Amino acid sequence: VKKTGRNNIQFFSQEMNRIVQKRLKIATELQDALDQNQFFLHYQPIVDYAQSRAIGVEALVRWKHRNKTRHPDEFIPVAEEMGLIVPLGRWVLQSALQQMRIWIDQGFLLNRLAVNVAVKQIHSAGFVDFLEYLLKENRIDPALLELEITERTLMFQDHHTLETLSRIRDLGVSISVDDFGTGYSSLNYIRNFPVNTLKIDRSFLTGLFNNHYDQAIVLAILAMAKSLSLDVVAEGVEQEEQDRFLRNNGCYLAQGYYYGHPVSPEKVQPLFDRIAQN
Ligand code: C2E
Ligand code: CA
Ligand code: CA
Ligand code: CA
Repeated sequence: VKKTGRNNIQFFSQEMNRIVQKRLKIATELQDALDQNQFFLHYQPIVDYAQSRAIGVEALVRWKHRNKTRHPDEFIPVAEEMGLIVPLGRWVLQSALQQMRIWIDQGFLLNRLAVNVAVKQIHSAGFVDFLEYLLKENRIDPALLELEITERTLMFQDHHTLETLSRIRDLGVSISVDDFGTGYSSLNYIRNFPVNTLKIDRSFLTGLFNNHYDQAIVLAILAMAKSLSLDVVAEGVEQEEQDRFLRNNGCYLAQGYYYGHPVSPEKVQPLFDRIAQN
C-alpha cells in the first residue's frame, strides 16, 4: 500500500509539473502572439426578433497559431491567470472599435457591438480612460458599445468593481451579464450593479426540451428581465424549436448557430443580408 501511495504521489507531481509547464509555454506563446499580431476577431450576429433581422454583433477573439485557429477557451483562462488578459483585452477593444468605424464608413450601420471583457481588465489601471479614448479616436457613439462581463466575476460585489462599472455607464456604454444563470445563486448583485442586458447561458438552451428545470429557468429569466426592464439575449440558439420557444415567450434578442457562426469582418454584412432574407 505504501509503495503504491508513493508512486501515486510521484505520478501526481509529474502530472502537475506537466500542467504547469504547459501553461508556462502557452503564456510565452501568448506574449509572442501579441507582439506578432497573431490575434484576430470574428463576429457573430445578434438577431432582433421584432425586426426579424440582425442588429449587431459580438466580437470573439481567435488566435492564429502555427497555421491553426485556436479558440478562446484554450487560451483566455491562461491569459487571465498570467496577467496577459490586460494587453490582449486592450487589443480586442481597439480592433473591434476600429472595425466598427470601417463598417460605418462603408455605410453598414450596426446598432450594437458587444465585446467581452475580463474583470481583471476592468480593474486594470486606466481602463475607463482608455475606453473613452478609443471611442473618441474611432468616433463611435458609446451607445453602440456593450461590454460583456461574466456573471461569475460580477458576484464579487466589491466597491471598486461597482465604481468602475458606473463610470463605464456614465460614458454611455452598456453592460451585459454574460453566461447568466450559471454563476451565482443569489441575484442580489443585479440590484447593485448598473447592468442593461442579461445573456442567458447556452447550457439552458441545450436542455430546453428535455429538462423541465432548464425550461423553467429560461422562462424565469425572461420574466425577471421583463419586470426589471432589462434586455435579454438568448445565446446558443441552434434549432428552430428553440428559436420558436424564445420568440413565443418574450425573448427579444438571439444569438447562435441557427442564425450564424462567428465570421470574419468581411462576411458580416453578407450574413446580415442572408438573415434578413429568411
Ligand atoms: P461567450 O462570451 O459565452 O461567447 C459565446 C461562445 O459560444 C462563443 O465561443 C461562440 O462561438 C459560441 N457559440 C455561439 N453560438 C453558439 C451555438 O449556437 N452553439 C454553440 N455550441 N456555441 C455557440 P468562443 O468564440 O469559442 O468563445 C468562448 C468564450 O471565450 C466566450 O464565451 C468568452 O467568454 C470568451 N471570449 C471570447 N472572446 C473573448 C475576448 O475578446 N475577451 C475575453 N475576455 N473573453 C473572450
Ligand atoms: Ca460573451
Ligand atoms: Ca455567454
Ligand atoms: Ca460562455
